[in-house]
Amino acid sequence: MKSFESLGLSKGLVDSVLQIGFETPTPIQEKAIPVLLKGNRDFVGLAQTGTGKTAAFGLPLLELVDDVRRDTQALVLAPTRELGLQIANDLENFSEKFKSFNIVAVYGGSSISEQIRKVKKGAQIIVATPGRLIDLIDRKAINLSTIQYVVLDEADEMLNMGFKEDLDKILSFTPETKSTWLFSATMPREVKSIMKNYMSDPFELTVGEQNTGNVNIEHCYVMVQEKDKYPALKRILDDNPQIFGLIFCRTRIDTQRIAEMLMKDGYNADALHGDLTQQQRDRVMVKFRQRSLQILVATDVAARGIDVEDISHVIHMNIPDEMEFYTHRSGRTARAGKKGISIAMISRRELGKVKQLEKTLKSPFKRMMVPTGAAVCQKQLLALMHKVREVKVNEEEIGEFLPAVYEELKDLTKPELIKRFASIEFNRFLDYYRNAPDLNLDDRRSSEGGEGARYSSTGTRFFINLGKMDGMEKGDMLALIDDVSGVSKQHIGHIELKGAYSFFEVVDKDKVAEITNGFQGIEYKGRQVRVEATERKESSGRESSGRDFKRGRTSGGPPPFKRGNKFSDSKRKRY
Ligand code: AMP
Repeated sequence: MKSFESLGLSKGLVDSVLQIGFETPTPIQEKAIPVLLKGNRDFVGLAQTGTGKTAAFGLPLLELVDDVRRDTQALVLAPTRELGLQIANDLENFSEKFKSFNIVAVYGGSSISEQIRKVKKGAQIIVATPGRLIDLIDRKAINLSTIQYVVLDEADEMLNMGFKEDLDKILSFTPETKSTWLFSATMPREVKSIMKNYMSDPFELTVGEQNTGNVNIEHCYVMVQEKDKYPALKRILDDNPQIFGLIFCRTRIDTQRIAEMLMKDGYNADALHGDLTQQQRDRVMVKFRQRSLQILVATDVAARGIDVEDISHVIHMNIPDEMEFYTHRSGRTARAGKKGISIAMISRRELGKVKQLEKTLKSPFKRMMVPTGAAVCQKQLLALMHKVREVKVNEEEIGEFLPAVYEELKDLTKPELIKRFASIEFNRFLDYYRNAPDLNLDDRRSSEGGEGARYSSTGTRFFINLGKMDGMEKGDMLALIDDVSGVSKQHIGHIELKGAYSFFEVVDKDKVAEITNGFQGIEYKGRQVRVEATERKESSGRESSGRDFKRGRTSGGPPPFKRGNKFSDSKRKRY
């Protein structure tokens, strides 16, 4: 393994890099730095994000640019403000103890006059997003005629974002004699055309196989019905209590909606998308970087280029239309040699896209099952117990309160105490997941497949804790089911009314999940209605649910359910 020194960098720069904590060069640094240091050749680096490409071009740039001169010698173009700022920041850190540069970042969404002022002071290196740079060129606030080096970072992203014309215009303002260094994760036609039009005989370097993903990313998918994607997302989050994750949605509206739903459901989540002001976006990013935000829900554009360490999971609410987007999304995890998981939530229709991705990335995608309710409960319980074990006890301050606590609990045995203590937080999960259906779709396309495949072919029998004692007639039951779940009477088979409970059969397997989901959180006369799928035909199957119901009943029983007595959303519990 080579050292930074052996690549031809000067001692001052090597010391700075070592001080930052980079001990040995990454593969792209090892191969690119010696070539770029010569300073006289165009260069194309085909590399994924997270490979260390900023230092691969940044270190040679800092060696080649003269800090005694005040004119602008290097221009780095990046697709987004976040990436631009990151590059400028990295360059400053690398050069802090080496040379005295004025590195200026120019990007949209921030005061242009302030940026013009900084540029005018003499910036040897400008890092820019294409749109804002065009503004500066149009205002004649920037002189690109002295440029010796142009770096196009994440070139494929810039082109994806529609910056082709801007790039053409910018490059036309730079001298013919400059060297152009282009970095891209993928090599679509548009990038090839930039190479053809603006570069001569570039040195081409591919790190890893072209289009292969980062090997440290485990690519998975879960297959669920479209309407089950949100519940499946929640299960994945609940199954990973330590998650530090990024969730991608296709549109700004979806991004905002998913983030809001998660927030309402008690997750530490927030949104990042283009409808937010720059200030709002900055605030969210600061929270995420500091890890005071656990889950960031973002659009492709807003999250491009963000480099946040240790993202454990990238979750895609759908597979993006552009394959490159998938690479960029999943590249947000498994950075700097760490491991990460990328989970795509797909409907059966999207299975073909997974196969296509497998081919493009030359990497297998593993089917991951959405965890069962029981599995999630188990994980949460263990996480809770781990917290108990790890909690830092403030011996001094808690001391004076303990005698009263011991007194209050003195009758309880150790197992009793543990059980009760664990239940305080755990009951919430138990309640929520008690009747949780299997959300995984069968991967066979046949009529046996689908959400209801695990149920018997003669229909699915449900237990409900309402019966004759509640004044229920068959018509009332049908009306209730329709009102609550939207499943109309033609899908309902045999109804067996008992005293405190009943059974009804759902003929159509596709409707099973609608029933289960529809009844979640429904209250009837202030009492929680419980509906459970059961394969037991035996009506004496009065599981604990029946007993729970009786215990909860008000004396005399509630009046019969009437059609129009809407079980509206406002009556649904929020979990
Ligand atoms: P980049 O691909 O430039 O965005 O870099 C990805 C991540 O790897 C960043 O967090 C860098 O700080 C880190 N990194 C870059 N080069 C090295 C290196 N030689 N050793 C350790 N970490 C590095």
